[in-house]
Amino acid sequence: MRKKVVVVNRLEEVVLNRLKQHHEVKSFINLTSTNDAQFLNEIKDASGIIGIDFQVDATLLDHAPKLEIISNVSVGYNNLDIDELTKRNIMATNTPGVLTDTVADVIFGLLIATARRIPELDNYVKTGQWQGNLSADYYGVDVHHKTIGIIGMGRIGQAIANRAYHGFHMNVLYNSRTRKPDSEEFFNASYRKLDDLLQESDYVVLITPLTKETERLLGKREFKLMKETAIFINGSRGKTIVEKDLIEALENKEIAAAGLDVFEKEPVDPDNPLLSMSNVVTLPHIGSSTYETELKMSELACDNIIAGLSGKKPPTLINESVWENIK
Ligand code: NAP
Repeated sequence: MRKKVVVVNRLEEVVLNRLKQHHEVKSFINLTSTNDAQFLNEIKDASGIIGIDFQVDATLLDHAPKLEIISNVSVGYNNLDIDELTKRNIMATNTPGVLTDTVADVIFGLLIATARRIPELDNYVKTGQWQGNLSADYYGVDVHHKTIGIIGMGRIGQAIANRAYHGFHMNVLYNSRTRKPDSEEFFNASYRKLDDLLQESDYVVLITPLTKETERLLGKREFKLMKETAIFINGSRGKTIVEKDLIEALENKEIAAAGLDVFEKEPVDPDNPLLSMSNVVTLPHIGSSTYETELKMSELACDNIIAGLSGKKPPTLINESVWENIK
């Protein structure tokens, strides 16, 4: 049976066309707020919503009484109030796995770019400043054989550890809610309490989901614990750190540098002090954004919604208990 699906912000075109073969589709590209009157009007008879960068809470769900499934085109689902969705027997899905290596590649690239000052030196060459021998002012620091501390040893954390250990012969420390025997075996990774990891690592990489427990996980105290030579990389979500404390730590030289794919407010404000620091390398939250992986994510998100709306279990369902209630 054809049902109504609302697409929010992004779904690759070929996948959008596939979805249209199954259901009535209404698209909202560049939706800035879910309070948008037209959007609220469209979801009132929608059975599914698919997309990214939209907040789902009780107020929004009150506008969508026929909703059966929400399909996020991302692995992180901090935009969804899972408890509220579950209470209402609405399925929620995400796109784990298909983006793991792509995100690990860019996070590792960000780490190298920050350590070896690649954007700064690129600018140095392109602006004609390279006129003679380079002084030590332009040197970076080594990545290989250093100690990396990974906070959040899940799928992406382990893919980063794989690159660090096998590619760069790094010493791998990690912190997670649970111990990871496979990582301890394959990457010779050692578990550390958070404070110990912060004190011992040359590179601190944060790649947890944003949850009540991880919100503001790293602040003033935690940045102070890091080495003065430490490089901090955030690939998780902006709100897992206290951004003003990171700025302070960089200004006070409590840590050496930072590589950031995510920010407290996105898009980041042009006057954010982080943007004028030469020892900070930034990216526009682009961890999973390659042609190949965006397509895979769209396909998986579409598989989820098509399955869910035809009475089948979506392949990557988050709230399993809903399925137990409705199957
Ligand atoms: P995952 O497999 O679920 O891994 C998450 C890991 O974080 C798990 O190992 C988990 O520990 C750990 N964790 C959760 N709460 C923690 C806490 N309080 N302290 C320490 N560790 C904690 O997820 P994933 O696929 O690797 O993705 C991780 C996150 O990366 C996503 O949720 C998203 O926020 C972010 N991400 C960012 C981009 C980007 O564009 N920058 C792209 C994709 C994903 P346990 O295993 O012990 O439960």
